Amino acid sequence: MCGIVAYIGNKEAYPILIKGLHRLEYRGYDSAGIALLNGGLSVHKTKGKVSVLEEHMKDFDKSGTIGIAHTRWATHGEPNTQNAHPHYSFSRKIAIIHNGIIENYSTLKKELINRGYEFHSDTDTEVLVNLIEDIQTKEEVNLEEAVRIALNQVIGAYAIVILSQEHPDMLIAARKGSPLVIGIGENDFYLASDATPIIEYTKNVVYLDDEEVAILKRGSELKIKTIKNEEKTPYIQELEWNLNELEKGGFDHFMLKEIYEQPTSIRDSFRGRLHPDKGTVSLGGIIDYEQKILNADRIIIAACGTSWHAGLVGEYLLEEIARIPVEVEYASEFRYRNPIITENDVMIAISQSGETADTLAAIELAKEKGATVLGICNVVGSSIARATDAGVYTHAGPEIGVASTKAFTAQVTVLTLMALRFAQLKGTLPKSEYVRLLHEMELIPEKVKKVLDDNGLIEEIAGKFKDSRNFLYLGRGYNFPVALEGALKLKEISYIHAEGYPAAEMKHGPIALIDKDMPVVFIAPNIGIYEKVVSNIQEVKARNGVVIAIVTEGDTTVKNMADYTIEIPETEEMFVPLLATIPLQKLSYHIAVMRGCNVDQPRNLAKSVTVE
Ligand code: GLU
Repeated sequence: MCGIVAYIGNKEAYPILIKGLHRLEYRGYDSAGIALLNGGLSVHKTKGKVSVLEEHMKDFDKSGTIGIAHTRWATHGEPNTQNAHPHYSFSRKIAIIHNGIIENYSTLKKELINRGYEFHSDTDTEVLVNLIEDIQTKEEVNLEEAVRIALNQVIGAYAIVILSQEHPDMLIAARKGSPLVIGIGENDFYLASDATPIIEYTKNVVYLDDEEVAILKRGSELKIKTIKNEEKTPYIQELEWNLNELEKGGFDHFMLKEIYEQPTSIRDSFRGRLHPDKGTVSLGGIIDYEQKILNADRIIIAACGTSWHAGLVGEYLLEEIARIPVEVEYASEFRYRNPIITENDVMIAISQSGETADTLAAIELAKEKGATVLGICNVVGSSIARATDAGVYTHAGPEIGVASTKAFTAQVTVLTLMALRFAQLKGTLPKSEYVRLLHEMELIPEKVKKVLDDNGLIEEIAGKFKDSRNFLYLGRGYNFPVALEGALKLKEISYIHAEGYPAAEMKHGPIALIDKDMPVVFIAPNIGIYEKVVSNIQEVKARNGVVIAIVTEGDTTVKNMADYTIEIPETEEMFVPLLATIPLQKLSYHIAVMRGCNVDQPRNLAKSVTVE
């Protein structure tokens, strides 16, 4: 959500900033802007895509070796040009870019208006830059100190970068609740919301912590202080991802590339952790907390969106295989409903980006109550990875498509490993059965590859249903969350209304919607309570519904009833979500492409939801 890029050094800033904004486009935004300093401070902004800003910039001087740039995801004020960032201070000497929300902006704004400040936008951000300017003049302090004083007065979340006409050799950045990464180059600094704009220039990065202010001066070392003015030693880390992983690699869209990466990303997520020959699973990241987990009263899984669906699969896995009670919570609800949490609870927080604001807040709440908190994140060094006591990274690689695909299956992979690990420690499964499961898990990437190779069948089905207005997705047991995820994927990228339901619940409402125009997608593998699902399919057919079914290879029962069947290889019930999700992702993808939708950057959505 929103993108920040900034540069200071001896190279031309503009190309670095624009390229960086393009790299951050996947995060979701509605307008873009840039500020350059070369003698004077100039701000340029436009509504819409970064390419519109580039077009607009054609007529302007783009020189300068220091600058800040932003893609905005509107929270305060319409997504228009005035509200786009950067924002000038009243004197036009300072420019700011900001990701987050200043919650007490209206009180601050009133005070500033009383002191003669005029505002040119509806944003909370413009209040912050004027507050800084006001403090600087009123208290006669330097810019760095004014920023610190201002940040002590604001309530809310921010990642900011400040550029001042009076300091052509300095950028000031700060964060609380919204991410900010600093790239340390040879003789320069790069700043961004995540590492994607930085990686091609340097692999050495510093993740700024909450309430830290970074002072980046040309020709000097990076300086970090807290907003309380305590010096901090920058902790430089090396980035693991490389540039190739950030490019489309011959695919039309990032989403399609990421769907096809799943055999690799699933394997990478269990590599070094799954040992079928030894009959064990090892999860180094949480080894010190295993006893705590085994003695826990229950596990609370907190997440949002697709990660919440992975969490639901996790509930089925952990309860079934490891016999540990699990509750799955929407982080956004959990944080505000005064939940009962004790020191005997273990929370598992799941987030691809590791920056999801609601999930972070749920973590803080659980920590306050003394619970142990573990994380499952994809982005190394992210806020959630740092806020949790321990965790297990998914190794899905960077996920650029806004609609999550490979991160979901990687999360499910990690949850599967957790369930298997705890089952091993608790001895809940006979050894031979346990080892068989481990061997089967090792085969999953090959089986995913087979599902991906569908010879155009899914595209054909997409062509038939691309103009449908509604879809229903039904599954039971492990496949109920798969149904939810399938429906979410379709909604997100094709804008077709879709609902996921436990198949038997259909009779309690959605069945009223079924007619000849209503495609119903069943996840109906020949395992578990298959017969019950078959009855549900019959109920839909009896009402002239159109059935698209995901079935096990060689199935004939469902094939005889359904209008379309998509086969997946046979596997153990607990691994079916890893296979059954794939055709649903592809179906959504092809439908969205056929409808002319922007698959990688669907409207209104953001990749990393850094506001609550
Ligand atoms: N709250 C700010 C605004 O609405 C920043 C939004 C963002 O994070 O992009 O302008």
